[in-house]
Amino acid sequence: MQVANTCWLRRFYPKTSVPAAPDDYPVNFRSVKDVYRWPNMFLEKAASCFGVKWVAQRLRRWKWELSTAFSGVGCAESAAISLAAAAKAFLKKHLTSNVRGTNHVQLSFACEIDGACQRVLRSTYGHCVFCDITKLNMTKNSSFCITHQKMCPIQHKLDDPTRPVCVDFSLMGQRKKQHGPSYATHKAFYDAVRKSNWSLVFIENVTEYQEQLVQQELGKPWCILSCRLDPRVLGMGCARARVFMVAYRTDKLVWDAPFGLNELVECLRGRVVMTAKDYYYMDLPRVKLSDANERNLADYNSESRKLQFPDLNQYAKNGRGRGETVDNALPTLTTTSGRLFSQAHHRFLHPDEMLASHALPISKDQGKACRAPTLELDKVPYTSKVHMAGNAINIPTIGSVMLAAALAFQPVQKP
Ligand SMILES: [Zn+2]
Repeated sequence: MQVANTCWLRRFYPKTSVPAAPDDYPVNFRSVKDVYRWPNMFLEKAASCFGVKWVAQRLRRWKWELSTAFSGVGCAESAAISLAAAAKAFLKKHLTSNVRGTNHVQLSFACEIDGACQRVLRSTYGHCVFCDITKLNMTKNSSFCITHQKMCPIQHKLDDPTRPVCVDFSLMGQRKKQHGPSYATHKAFYDAVRKSNWSLVFIENVTEYQEQLVQQELGKPWCILSCRLDPRVLGMGCARARVFMVAYRTDKLVWDAPFGLNELVECLRGRVVMTAKDYYYMDLPRVKLSDANERNLADYNSESRKLQFPDLNQYAKNGRGRGETVDNALPTLTTTSGRLFSQAHHRFLHPDEMLASHALPISKDQGKACRAPTLELDKVPYTSKVHMAGNAINIPTIGSVMLAAALAFQPVQKP
């Protein structure tokens, strides 16, 4: 066991660009409950790295109008709302001069094709929801909005040159390669970006997704920054390596900070003490396994590495067995992760726990802690929730990238 642990002490988690926290680093989170404190924690960490004064100065001028594409259940929305609330609290705490009631983040619209996600989006956030990125004509002023059941504006209002920063957000959650059948939706997305008045776009995807591709699609005034990140880098006990790209218009924004994107994220790191076990936090009864599941579990238990959290939707026998990572973290959740079995609890990871593993607020207390609206999941079926969780973005990871952008971008000074 010691040998395996020593092997694991590498500097980077797989597919990441930010090094793992060294062993002498402070712990960020000890439980799922703890993770919801990420927004304040990240701001205080940034302030300790780059100075309270500098961080406060930048936050005072931070203002985004946010739209999302491939929105899912609104992970980007949730992260931005939490950050904005934390920014307000930070300014109140650290600034002696009066802080006007700044609204750092204003939600504009979400664009999502899945019906169950659309319902969650409109009832949770109340902003405009459009149905399909391929049908969103950015050369028009409006499109049919599901929330308000009428035509609503699609271009952003924040276009005032006297505003210090005027940025927009879009995001891609669909994980298909360039030649996959859904690449048409990516094309439509990039087409929308080019035709929009957006100046800042965040893109999340599997780590294989390439910067060059985005650069090719967006063309000249756009510049791409990127960061490959896993929640474990920030101190959570779950795997989910993703690439986060920040595309911005060089004629409108400039990255003006004493750090690069990866360096800012680096200062938010924490030592990992959470494991897969921590994510089974709800008080739920043991389940009776079906005969097929029992046989599969027996196969898992006969393997040399006996998994404590085997995925019973995968077969141990055909070599596709899956479970906790070698450092005992929760494996990357997918849309088929509905049967992640805990041998200790003798039950599956509940879809609410799956959503909570991304730090999406699913209870009032969690919403209160991160200051984002609690997801409205009433009447959402079990399997839909598994799907939502499988497609979601880990909130603190996107939050860390958003924080970097909120602090670093400044408007281009026009002569
Ligand atoms: Zn609307």
